[in-house]
Amino acid sequence: MKRSNFLNRSWIFASCIKDYFFKKDRVSKYPHTLIIETTNHCNLSCKMCFHKKMKRKKGFLSKKTMKILLNNLRNYKIPHVQLAFGGEPFLHPKILDYIKEFKKLDIKVEIFTNGLLVNKDISNKIIDLELDIINFSIDSTNNKTYSKIRRGGNLNIAFKNLKYLSKLKKQLKVKKPFIRLCVTKVKDNRLEIRNNLFKKKYGKYVDYIYYNYENNWIGSVNNEVIIGKRGVEERDRICLFPWLLMAITHDGKVVPCCCDYDINYQIGDIHKETLGQIRHIKRLRDIRQALIKRDYDSIRICKKCLWRKHNSPFKLLFNRIKSEIVDLIHLK
Ligand code: SF4
Ligand code: SF4
Repeated sequence: MKRSNFLNRSWIFASCIKDYFFKKDRVSKYPHTLIIETTNHCNLSCKMCFHKKMKRKKGFLSKKTMKILLNNLRNYKIPHVQLAFGGEPFLHPKILDYIKEFKKLDIKVEIFTNGLLVNKDISNKIIDLELDIINFSIDSTNNKTYSKIRRGGNLNIAFKNLKYLSKLKKQLKVKKPFIRLCVTKVKDNRLEIRNNLFKKKYGKYVDYIYYNYENNWIGSVNNEVIIGKRGVEERDRICLFPWLLMAITHDGKVVPCCCDYDINYQIGDIHKETLGQIRHIKRLRDIRQALIKRDYDSIRICKKCLWRKHNSPFKLLFNRIKSEIVDLIHLK
């Protein structure tokens, strides 16, 4: 069965979920998703982001580390990669070559971008490469609020790029990439969300609009998260991520999730261990065990993480299933 095939992806996803619900710290062979940081440089300084606080060295995923990663992925059949994490992926000069390499291995490739660098040339190329999903992070429908949230950005450019890609897809009659608009719910855009302005402005250019709550990045960023009736409910929950995914930094360090942006809880290094070994490594099992026992205090990164408090596993599960169904209908 092909790696990116819907059934294969669903099978691996179901195995992760089964382990999660049966509270197993020893898990099935593959995670569903590998989050890959191609760079932790960024061209913005967004209000709700950890980027300005990041202390680790800035850099780019080198050819050498990429080769090790590809060798790993050749033998270890993770079906889905997300190019995201500590920066803007399109700042990497080799990003298109890297997408091509992942696609050659028949991996479903998804990218998260602020959209400012997705110019005409990039749009043409990502369509040629059959990139599967592109997420444009645009959190407002007007210039003033956008500039307040996406500091250093320019809504006109991001929107122009989004429109161009969308029109090009229609012109070429292609389905890929699936275009998602990612909106982080902050106090500044509350009314725009409530009045459905995102759908009105961007709806005809995107395939899906996704709203998510701002994060506190394991307690390091003091965001003004909207709590309450129309905002998020806070509850101590068992986070699904250590069962479902792993994240890798541009220099090959592996962490349990993308919230650990400064590598506070390293679980491996692909220069020393394989991804298959890291999936079952004791440090990652320790996190699963601590979460199962709801002993959040014993794991530094999970202790203050608002992500687990805000995101119900059922909601994540529902969103993932919904997104797979939308994908299936859209991409066939
Ligand atoms: S949210 Fe994304 S675009 Fe904004 S500063 Fe952080 S990494 Fe950069
Ligand atoms: S609880 Fe937070 S820090 Fe811990 S694994 Fe989940 S998302 Fe990551």
